[in-house]
Amino acid sequence: MPISVVGYAAHSATSELVPYSFERRDPKADDVVIEILYCGVCHSDLHTARNDWGWTAYPIVPGHEIVGRVTAVGKDVTRFKAGDHVGVGCLVDSDRSCEHCEKGHEQYCDHGVFTYGGQDKDGSMTQGGYSSQVVVSDRFVLKVPDGLDLKGAAPLLCAGITTYSPLRHWNVKKGDKVAVTGLGGLGHMAIKLAKAMGAEVTLFSRSPGKENDARRLGADHVVISTDEKQMAAVRAKFALIIDTVPYDHDLNPYIPTLNVDGTLVLVGYLGPLGTPLNTAHMILKRQAVAGSLIGGLPETQEMLDFCGQHGITADVEMIAMDGINHAYERMLKSDVKYRFVIDMATLKG
Ligand code: NAP
Ligand code: ZN
Repeated sequence: MPISVVGYAAHSATSELVPYSFERRDPKADDVVIEILYCGVCHSDLHTARNDWGWTAYPIVPGHEIVGRVTAVGKDVTRFKAGDHVGVGCLVDSDRSCEHCEKGHEQYCDHGVFTYGGQDKDGSMTQGGYSSQVVVSDRFVLKVPDGLDLKGAAPLLCAGITTYSPLRHWNVKKGDKVAVTGLGGLGHMAIKLAKAMGAEVTLFSRSPGKENDARRLGADHVVISTDEKQMAAVRAKFALIIDTVPYDHDLNPYIPTLNVDGTLVLVGYLGPLGTPLNTAHMILKRQAVAGSLIGGLPETQEMLDFCGQHGITADVEMIAMDGINHAYERMLKSDVKYRFVIDMATLKG
């Protein structure tokens, strides 16, 4: 029998999220049924609700930083049992057989199914974690390590893995100089994770008021990106820059702060750049501008285990479900410290 759930959905790009009832599929043999306890609020949720990327189909229930408790499992599920604390991130399915899935890089599968707004195998549209329950195939369910605070663990499922994956891919190790652009949900996780990997971490921010927080979170240095003098002082410094800024911005001021062979990885803004990239510095110093999408399932579990070992969680501000529209407005003003997390107990059925 399909499962009736309640949630919050956007019905158009310009309307607020409102209560919404819908159904989850009848659980299959490999499915895990999860009661959602907490769901982080990612800037991607806002981009999707407001159709910033032009592909949103409505109604849409956002949310892909899900932590919950297993309430039932299908007969083929061996890794999970009722009562386990589990997580679900941005992906709930893929073709499971292409070269990317075989390497555990499901995020790059051409048939990946996103947690919300994706087309599920049965043709229905997936709906996300701003809801009471979710049904997910066991391959796409993650174990939350014992001892991690569940509220602070929720944002690891997107903000955590999206920053962990490029730090690993570009092989960040002790002593490497890493910069992070933008101190929001992704940015604050990037600082914590890079620091735990032993890097010397610099924050690029537009907001002078965030300096003390940045240092508390683990940044060794803070550079105000609009201050030319401060930018000049970090010339040729970084091996890697992780850029989390959600909107179009000029990348050219950042390129000279990369060392020879340095890479600027975009994880935030998705779309054409308004200011063309000047290739001169990149060629003279063998530098790259790259992109990176979340992380695959094995790497997401690795990240959660890494966070378990190092005691890393997000700094969260808890909100009630009906506070989501206000939270979006604050997010647009960069007023997030440093991730909103919805307490699903506030969602009235
Ligand atoms: P967030 O919490 O809103 O933080 C973004 C930060 O960027 C802000 O706190 C601000 O930091 C800076 N910023 C915001 N607007 C800016 C602007 N117009 N110009 C310059 N800086 C600006 O957002 P988030 O949840 O971390 O998400 C960041 C982006 O990553 C979003 O676009 C989201 O869709 C994307 N994302 C990508 C992936 C992926 O797989 N690649 C996964 C998740 C999210 P300062 O005040 O310090 O400047
Ligand atoms: Zn996200």
